[in-house]
Amino acid sequence: MISFLDLQKINKRYAEELKQVASEVIDSGWYLNGERLQEFETNLAAHTGVNHAVGVANGLDALRLILRAWIEQGFMEKGDEVIVPANTYIASVFAISDNGLTPLFVEPDIHTYNLDISKIEESITEKTRAIMVVHLYGQVCWSPKLEKIKEKYQLKIIEDNAQAIGAKYMPHSNSASVSTGALGDAAAFSFYPGKNLGALGDAGAVTTNDEQNAEIVRTLGNYGSRKKYYNDYQGLNSRMDEIQAAFLNVKLKYIDEENDKRRKVAQHYIEGITNPDIVLPSTTALTSSHVWHLYVIRHPERDQLQKNLSEQGVQTMIHYPVPPHKQLAYKHLSDEKFPVTEKISEEVLSLPISSVIDNEEVASLTDTVNSYAQ
Ligand SMILES: *Cc1c(COP(=O)(O)O)cnc(C)c1O
Repeated sequence: MISFLDLQKINKRYAEELKQVASEVIDSGWYLNGERLQEFETNLAAHTGVNHAVGVANGLDALRLILRAWIEQGFMEKGDEVIVPANTYIASVFAISDNGLTPLFVEPDIHTYNLDISKIEESITEKTRAIMVVHLYGQVCWSPKLEKIKEKYQLKIIEDNAQAIGAKYMPHSNSASVSTGALGDAAAFSFYPGKNLGALGDAGAVTTNDEQNAEIVRTLGNYGSRKKYYNDYQGLNSRMDEIQAAFLNVKLKYIDEENDKRRKVAQHYIEGITNPDIVLPSTTALTSSHVWHLYVIRHPERDQLQKNLSEQGVQTMIHYPVPPHKQLAYKHLSDEKFPVTEKISEEVLSLPISSVIDNEEVASLTDTVNSYAQ
């Protein structure tokens, strides 16, 4: 059996260090807003290449809090629109509508599955204030054209970086690269256990170079309070536990190494999968480095392929079977048409990829996929 993601195996590599820091937190008697969180925020900001990082409870809250802070900063107000890819994970969209903002769906590119930047401009209206780019499956979504649109329409850009920690954008082959999380005005990270950098529970973070935004995000996540029992905003309770910060400090040291291992697995798939009915993910390798949170193929008879693989002991998943505008949660949007998004949702299949899947498993999986014929 090849499991989709073996978290036990991933965390086993760090078990000694994790147990050590857990016992330090237990013994310290200090469980929130302490020195482990501060240390993680410093480390994450340095790793990302930004001035500020703020630890929060999860990735959804990171997204929500950035937009909420922008409302408090006067950059937008309820009823304004935020452009978001139509094929993203639901959290991106919840963060927008939860703030009383309107999600404006734009189709993805069929090859990269990232927001189709050439379709943004035609969607912009008087009420559009921001673009949410999602570095989906671990691939950077950014381009000079996107920067031009931002300038021309004076828009904010929020990065949903939940799947792409450590990915880098390189504007030209000889220029310095910029990490995802440092490209837009602010970025949200998720440390959900299955993400490339996974906590042992929920955690998330916001990164930004805007000092005021960072300070308001921090305040909003702490009951809107700067001074205990004085509340400046109607805030939330969204803080990163000291124990999760301690775990993440251990695992952040290894994230680049882990991402390299994922790249090797992806390279094996790219070279090994030759089945003509399968569309491999297309990458913009020249200008960005992918961190392969997911390895997503397409097949016209996806459900059959998934069933066949499962019968041969290969566990796969679908990211995502139902696009946001087709969810019951957004039933008032169900008449909108996004043919590219819908095709993607019908054909995608995610193969196992991680830092612990071994060469033999990848080889056997590649053979299984190649031997499948309709
Ligand atoms: C995981 C994820 C989130 C949400 O993160 P949580 O920590 O689970 O709240 C948001 N956006 C994308 C694209 C994700 O993959």
